[in-house]
Order: sequence, then structure tokens, then C-alpha cells
Amino acid sequence: MSEKITDVVCPYCGCLCDDIELEIDDGVIKDTENSCKISHTKFIDFMQGSERNKEPMIKENGEFVSVSMDEAVEKAANILANSEYPIAYGWSSTTCEAQKLGIELTEKLGGVIDNTSSVCHGPTILAEQGVGYSGCTLGQVKNRADLIIYWGCNPAHAHPRHLSRYTLYPRGFFTRSGERDRNLIVVDIRKTDTAKIADEFIQVDPNQDYELLAAIRTVLKDGDIPEEVAGVPADDIKHLAEVMKDCKFGVVFFGLGLTMSRGKFPNIDNAISLVRDLNDYTKFVIMPMRGHFNVAGANKVTCWEARFPFAVDFARGYPRYAPGVNTVVDVLGNKEVDSALVVASDPASNLPGTAFKHLQDIPTITIDPHLSPTAEVSDVFFPSAVSGIESEGTAYRMDGVPIKLRKVMDPPEGILSDEGILETIIEKL
Ligand code: SF4
Repeated sequence: MSEKITDVVCPYCGCLCDDIELEIDDGVIKDTENSCKISHTKFIDFMQGSERNKEPMIKENGEFVSVSMDEAVEKAANILANSEYPIAYGWSSTTCEAQKLGIELTEKLGGVIDNTSSVCHGPTILAEQGVGYSGCTLGQVKNRADLIIYWGCNPAHAHPRHLSRYTLYPRGFFTRSGERDRNLIVVDIRKTDTAKIADEFIQVDPNQDYELLAAIRTVLKDGDIPEEVAGVPADDIKHLAEVMKDCKFGVVFFGLGLTMSRGKFPNIDNAISLVRDLNDYTKFVIMPMRGHFNVAGANKVTCWEARFPFAVDFARGYPRYAPGVNTVVDVLGNKEVDSALVVASDPASNLPGTAFKHLQDIPTITIDPHLSPTAEVSDVFFPSAVSGIESEGTAYRMDGVPIKLRKVMDPPEGILSDEGILETIIEKL
């Protein structure tokens, strides 16, 4: 029987759009409304993908064999119990409830827990901790912002509804004419699809963002700048500073183009400081474009439970925080950890070669809805329910607003949520 479910939250990117409509027929999602292309693909193709495994598996003589849940839990608990310094990594595409259990498990084991922000917005968090920041909700942006700046990010591809739900196109309380009431500026190293629809595009030389930010701050303080900085003519920089000063409510959204280019966290420190300087003239805020749907939640839950947002080490029995020492790339690359639990993430697809090599060499347990490349190199694989579709929970939007994820259908028989699998492993330990 066909049914329509409304107000579903999309568990894909940090926008957490909560107006998705699904048409479900006989337990299969047939169509979506209000979704972007990525979201539609997640609801339709991801749910029905042929690589979806429905049984736990353990590796024997280099080959996966299907086993019962009890056998897989026994094997996983054995690996973790016999490990001296395990890492629990991932956590950005699962619920806050599962993240909380991950911290409990890591503390019991005396291991290290890290989330994917250590390879994306880790520098943002370090800078925010260093200098504080002026932020707001996406609702405030929709209702008030008349100047939108995207710096080092391309929401047209990575967060496709960001512009239509929150920034450029929606009509807000003080921005009743929508797009006509707003000015869109993009700063990037190339003319992205977001830049193509912007009112102004500033092309900065690769790895020169810090210099450009510093030049704008210098102009704001009536200082002199060279004829050209970071490939941008001085007149354009002065014009940009004037536009920023003259708006009523400005916002800088930034992505990995700023966090992961040369400079890293000093880039963000400088961007936050620019926004602070602009508040001498007008209202200005700054917000990171968080990628995975609950990477912001991973930082919050880790802070509540273990005092720090990522890279928390329990080896001495209490939480210690040392990004660059106990972050995933370091503890794997330096061959420090002797087992790994990967939850809702695919580090095999994006870690540096040395870190990935060590992940292959140590016993690894993966919890994921699909047999991902990380699952392929693991010793134990638990297929899990898709968070936010087959299991409910809580996630944090990129602006720090918690959103309740809905369960809209049952997972395949015998498949537990991430939370359920972690609870079973903890009980076994
Ligand atoms: S913008 Fe992000 S959260 Fe919104 S529908 Fe698209 S993928 Fe989902």
C-alpha cells in the first residue's frame, strides 16, 4: 500500500532539511519531494543499492563469511578487549545517541576517539576555541541577512538547498523580496557554480586566503595595502571592504577551501577576526559549512561527555586532547593504535596512504549500512540501519540547532541501529 510521509529530515548534509516528503510503497521509497539531487539519491538509490549487505560478516582466510549477530559481537568484543590502544573513529553520519555510546565504549577500553571533523573543520574548532566567534542560526540568516559571502565552499554542489532554504532565495521577515534584497559574493580559487550565480566573484590565488583576509582587515583600519594582494587588485579589496561595512547584516560561510588550504586554523582565526572587526560598523556573523549531517553533533556530544570536541584520548583513564598528536591521521600514520572501530564513516576512501596502510594491518571493525571500502578491509562488518531513515535519533544542523531525525521505515530483518550494535558490544565487553 502506498503512503506519503511528510516533514522527513534529510540525513545527508549539515543543512538537515526537514521538509522532505516521501512516497513509500510496500516498504520501498518510490519518490521524494523537496529533496535535492543528493538527497533523492540517498533516499532512493542508497537504500536499495545492490551492495547493501544484510548479514554480519567476519573475515576468515582473507575472505568474508556471513555469521550470526552473536558470533560477530563475540569477535568484535574479543578484538577490542585484547587491544591495548584502540581507536574509535567516524561518527559524523550517525545519531548523537550512538556517539554517546561510542565515548562510553572508548573510555572503558582506554582508547582514543576521533570524529571526521579532524580532517575537515578541525581547524575551525581550534580557531573558535582560540578567539571565540560571532554566530547565529540559519533562521536569522534567512530573515535578516542582506550580504551573503561564501568563502572557499561551493554549496551549489555540496549543500544544494543552502541557497534556496536559508541564504539567497528565501523571503525573510526583513528580506521580504528574497534574492532582490540580498547581495551574494563568492571568494574562491576558481569560478565554481556558486560563483557563477553570485553578484560578485573574487578570485583569490591558491593558498593565499590568509593574505586576502589580512588585506581586508588592513583596509578596514585605514591601513595601506600593495596594488595587488593574493591575486586580487587593491581597488577590488577596498570595494569589498566597503560592501561589507555598508550591509545591514552580513554573514561569511566558509568551507574546506579555507580550513584545509595553507594556513589552516590561522586562516579561520583571521576570518573570525575580520568578522569581529566588521561588528564595529554593522552586524556580521560567520558560520562553517559542516558537511556530514551530524558532524556538528559529534563535536557537541564529545564535548558534553569528554570535555573536548574531537581527538580525545582515554589512555590514562581520563580525557586528554591533543589535535595533531592523537587525531586519526597521527595515531594511524604513527602506528600507535592496535585496533580500530569505524562507525558511519569511510576513512579508507580519504585517509593518507600511511594511515590507511596501518588501518589495513590492524584488526578493524566497521559498522555501516553498506559494505564500504573501509568495511572491505575490516575483520568484522556489522550492517546497520540507515540513521534518520530506518532509525530515529538526534542530529545537529550546521548552525548548532538540534533536529529530531525520524524513522520512516523498518530496516531489513535482523539489522540493528548503530546504537543497538554498540549497546550489544558494550554488554559483551
Ligand atoms: S541540502 Fe543537504 S540536507 Fe538538504 S536535501 Fe540536500 S543533501 Fe539533504
